Amino acid sequence: MKPSVTESERVKHAVEVAKKAHEGQTRKTGEPYIVHPLAVKKILEEWGMDEDTIIAGILHDTIEDTDLTLDDIRKEFGESVAFLVDGVTKLSTARTGMRDIDTYLPTTKDNFLRLMIALGDDIRVLIIKLADRLHNLRTLSALPPDKQKKIAKETLEVFAPLADRLNMGLLRVEMSDLAFKYVDPKRYDELKNLIEKHNKAAEQSLSKIKNEISLVLKKEGIKFEISGRVKSVYSLHKKLAKHNQNINEIYDLTALRIIVNDITDCYLTLGVIHSLYMPMNGRIKDYIAMPKQNGYQSLHTTVITKDKHVVEFQIRTREMHEYAERGLAASFYYNEQKLTENYKKGKIEHLPTNLLWITELQMTAAKLREGKKVDLKKLKLNLFADKIFVYTPKGDIIDLPAGAMPLDFAYRLHSEIGDHVVGVKINGKMSNLNKKLEQGDIVEILTSKNQTPKSTWLDKIFTPHARSKLLRALNLSARSAAGENVEKPKKHRKPRKV
Ligand code: MN
Repeated sequence: MKPSVTESERVKHAVEVAKKAHEGQTRKTGEPYIVHPLAVKKILEEWGMDEDTIIAGILHDTIEDTDLTLDDIRKEFGESVAFLVDGVTKLSTARTGMRDIDTYLPTTKDNFLRLMIALGDDIRVLIIKLADRLHNLRTLSALPPDKQKKIAKETLEVFAPLADRLNMGLLRVEMSDLAFKYVDPKRYDELKNLIEKHNKAAEQSLSKIKNEISLVLKKEGIKFEISGRVKSVYSLHKKLAKHNQNINEIYDLTALRIIVNDITDCYLTLGVIHSLYMPMNGRIKDYIAMPKQNGYQSLHTTVITKDKHVVEFQIRTREMHEYAERGLAASFYYNEQKLTENYKKGKIEHLPTNLLWITELQMTAAKLREGKKVDLKKLKLNLFADKIFVYTPKGDIIDLPAGAMPLDFAYRLHSEIGDHVVGVKINGKMSNLNKKLEQGDIVEILTSKNQTPKSTWLDKIFTPHARSKLLRALNLSARSAAGENVEKPKKHRKPRKV
């Protein structure tokens, strides 16, 4: 799909400048440092990004790590590239601040603001950052284990969801699987094996199904491509958690993808599939008429085949497919000219309509720059749906629904912590348990082993998760006070009818 681009003089020049700037530096892998910016360049090229973004990708670490200045970059490569490099640098210094808790504490809000402004100015900053993170993940094995875990966790909690918000499906899958391998290696291997075993078992019947469908589609004169899609390990992990680890409730372990020419053929193909196999009740989804929030479009249906296999089908056009895999990056490819022109004119309304939240972010950033007041809470709702991200004093990121309070945070860390809360410090200051947490807060829970859970806490809890933990603890302590043996709670089994 992507045009084969002969490398422009500007890009070649950027590579030379980066090589010279990073000369003598090495990565943790032992390779010369330039390997990293060149890898980021390649990723951005694969995504079909515009030249300024690619050049900024090549230079993205020069301001922070070398003698090169923003002025140098502006003179050599122009305002737009300088702007992007500056944005990426701001983004990473904001994050560095979060790592060093002493310098981070007094400037939390300021850092967060900088982060948002950097993001909001030009979404291409975020795309470069995602490419940067992807290559760092691919080479994560060179880092010490504690750093690996931290980066991997942050990836699962911030970057992979962002990739999903931008509908960059391929990126989301690669990032989350790479990261999950470091966060929970045992589980990763377990699930990977499970998927492979399942695929092997399904192989034969799958090729039979492919043949049956191909035959009918050809007869109907529908042009198509059919292929298997492999389920990502991390998404299976998340789904299993939702379904009480019951693998029999996961209906999309085996999926076939059919790509056709136009929307009419999508619906015709759905009809063909349903004429061959029995569709499962409630599992037909029309994301063409009703796209997902991130703009994803497809028809989904799950069927039961003659030999009792459960197979999910995803039917879409080529353009929908490109967009599902590359998301925002694909829109850049399709709309590059228009977007570039609009950026130059300072206009921001020409993003695809399903990515309007980006436009809002950009408008908010513009207001911030003009020194106007903005409701940051609204902004964050747009970026991460209804989530907030708060930090432990060690810098671990915890995501909670907006509205969460300190006890939600405590129970999220561990029920042992939740049950023994005596107080909370937010951003270094003593605070109340009914204080709503805000984006970027650093939350320190104070505990005492003499503390017991209180029923008055129920008013100071927002998440169902914390509520159920607290109720369980209250229940246990009530029964323990009544003299019941609570170590081994009796199972109440319904009498069986014979
Ligand atoms: Mn980098």
